[in-house]
Amino acid sequence: MAESPFKVLVADDDPISRRLLEHSLAKWGYEVVSAGDGDEAWKLLNDPNGPNLAILDWVMPGLDGDEICRRMRAEQRPITNYVYAILLTSRDSKEDLVNGIESGADDYIAKPFDPQELRVRVRAGQRICELQSELIVAHETLRKLAMQDQLTGILNRGAILERLECELSRSRRQCRSLTVALADIDHFKAVNDTHGHQAGDCVLQQFVRRVESNRRLYDSIGRYGGEEFLIIIPETDQESARVVLERIRKAVADGPMHYGDIPIAITVSLGATISRPDLDVDALIQAADTALYRAKNAGRNRGEFWGGT
Ligand code: GH3
Ligand code: MG
Ligand code: MG
Repeated sequence: MAESPFKVLVADDDPISRRLLEHSLAKWGYEVVSAGDGDEAWKLLNDPNGPNLAILDWVMPGLDGDEICRRMRAEQRPITNYVYAILLTSRDSKEDLVNGIESGADDYIAKPFDPQELRVRVRAGQRICELQSELIVAHETLRKLAMQDQLTGILNRGAILERLECELSRSRRQCRSLTVALADIDHFKAVNDTHGHQAGDCVLQQFVRRVESNRRLYDSIGRYGGEEFLIIIPETDQESARVVLERIRKAVADGPMHYGDIPIAITVSLGATISRPDLDVDALIQAADTALYRAKNAGRNRGEFWGGT
């Protein structure tokens, strides 16, 4: 993906000073947008594709530079929309500068500005913005990793339970039911005992791929425990959920998994329940577990519904 150019807003009511800023910034490779007064600057700052950094004249018609800073910071924008602000000022008393920075500006430059000084200050602002973007990406990567089961790449126990809470409250709002299913691989211990733990891991990964390619787009699957998986099937009645579960069961039993050249045939048992307004997440899982227990006792390689026949 191409990186979007670093965009700088120049807001200055003095046309000569504005042109000079525009010209210098463009020469240094920045994409420049400019405004001749504070209100126009405010509008540009609120554009979804707005600037990353703003050079704001302190005194302008409409909103002054410090007032713009104050408003931006008071809005508590998401960190992804942070705009680095440099106040442009002919005021240079200490008190003014303190007030300027306290308004939320990140830096200031005295007017008339020295181009080399402006260049390094804008560059410093850009560096901070870039560091921040990297932090945001790192944070997002960590967030995703924290939700993931390392072996199979699907949601881990915590994340699938969180998803279930969300789906359940959504289904309640929409007055629709969802299905919660537990899928447990049959006699999986025998796979480990016969072929070793690594083969078992490999089978778990392939099992997940098969289930994933046989679920519907909006169904979620997560690893609930060792060889036990939780599947959420939103907006279903028992009949359509039964079809989904049967498809999953069949796909797993349909042909062996493989560990290298070794074929390893497995089956899966499933226990499911339809949501009801009086059942919370724990109660739903408990009901699905009871149905799973029935499926195991009835001979495995089958699906059962809680309370169903
Ligand atoms: P059942 O049909 O009653 O479910 O029998 P089972 O053998 O599948 O059930 P049991 O609970 O006795 O054994 C589950 C096994 O799954 C034991 C455990 O070592 C194995 N297991 C759990 N997590 C992993 C894993 O991440 N990798 C591997 N290779 N094995 C795992
Ligand atoms: Mg099992
Ligand atoms: Mg088990």
